[in-house]
Amino acid sequence: MSLKIIHYREECIGCNACIESSPSNWKINEKDGKADLIQGKETKKGVFVKEISQLELEENKKAERDCPARIIKVF
Ligand code: SF4
Repeated sequence: MSLKIIHYREECIGCNACIESSPSNWKINEKDGKADLIQGKETKKGVFVKEISQLELEENKKAERDCPARIIKVF
């Protein structure tokens, strides 16, 4: 069964919490200061999706919990 991250990027406030949880999946975009989901695919405007492995689940669940804008979904 595949696991996914969804990032609703437009509401991102660039707080860095997701990067601290999972630096291999998240980085701050230097142009606009928002987080990018590394290798995420834009499925519709501002919504990025990426499959992750079981090993990456817990750190991204932490990102989901810690995101103050509540714009990360992991399932
Ligand atoms: S934790 Fe949420 S608001 Fe903060 S940088 Fe990551 S996606 Fe943006």
